[in-house]
Amino acid sequence: MNDDFLSRLDGIRTWQKGGERAPHKPLLLLFALGRVQQGRRRLAHYGDEVARQLTDLLRRFGRPRSVHHPEAPFARLRGDRLWDVISDTDLDRIKGKGGVTHRQLIDHAAAGGFPASDQRLLLGDHALLEEAAQRLLDAHFPPSMHDDIRDAVGLIRAAAHWADKRCRMADAAVPPQPGAASSTTSSTRDPGFRHAVLRAYERRCAVCGFDVRLDDDLVGLDAAHIRWHAAGGPDEVPNGLALCILHHRTFDRGAIGLERAATGFRVVVSDEVNGQSPAFRQLVDCHGRPVRNPQRRRHRPHAEFVDWHRREVFRGSPRETEGPR
Ligand SMILES: [Zn+2]
Repeated sequence: MNDDFLSRLDGIRTWQKGGERAPHKPLLLLFALGRVQQGRRRLAHYGDEVARQLTDLLRRFGRPRSVHHPEAPFARLRGDRLWDVISDTDLDRIKGKGGVTHRQLIDHAAAGGFPASDQRLLLGDHALLEEAAQRLLDAHFPPSMHDDIRDAVGLIRAAAHWADKRCRMADAAVPPQPGAASSTTSSTRDPGFRHAVLRAYERRCAVCGFDVRLDDDLVGLDAAHIRWHAAGGPDEVPNGLALCILHHRTFDRGAIGLERAATGFRVVVSDEVNGQSPAFRQLVDCHGRPVRNPQRRRHRPHAEFVDWHRREVFRGSPRETEGPR
């Protein structure tokens, strides 16, 4: 049953011409998976719920074009046996040559979602839901876009999500632990971590101030965990830093770290970092520089997380000088 669902997912027919991307159906499916995970009802109303949000997803993650067509995947996904549509008329009878139109979906109160049997399957098997989401992301988008897309459709990475919840999985593959559900805090599974961290740091890298946008979308700015999520670090702003990709990567690899200073923290660069390029010089120049404080005092990094990073991640020792001159 699970394999059947995944193979239908892998087999979605996407309209492609000359190597063009075809993100319509994958984005609609990811949107629908997000709804399942959020416990929303199965059928989403096209006019009120889908059209605007899917258009926004297509604008942000689809191909660059001036007009988007959310009606296309909404109507056509039915042919892939992954999508039910109900309406007050037979859409196939009234559709024209180009298929069902946006107007027709609105006028006939169309609503769509996974077939009921697939919906039940996904609700009872969160690992399957995660597998489905990751397959769609891997198959259709570069890794650097995955988190942004997950954020946009409200899809929490299920492994972390359900582990944090200590599992209320219906299939009882992992038995629930007594008292666990009530002891978890909402922050440990907060899908808004990225948003909260970036807002706290006013959407600038805390190390270098990087803040490049493409139209309204930030490009290359991450919400980094100081204590890794994989190591039990919470999704809370005091465990986060807004970092550009360069500083996120170098921070996670331990090439740079934090050190307590009189007011907040300063950046330390490892003495194991080396190179000769201007980029290397730029990185080394950060050594000793104060880390930008978040807007609110309560959002400042907690020393326990910084200490963990320093102990478990930071490589070598802090440099003694600001680098080669
Ligand atoms: Zn930076």
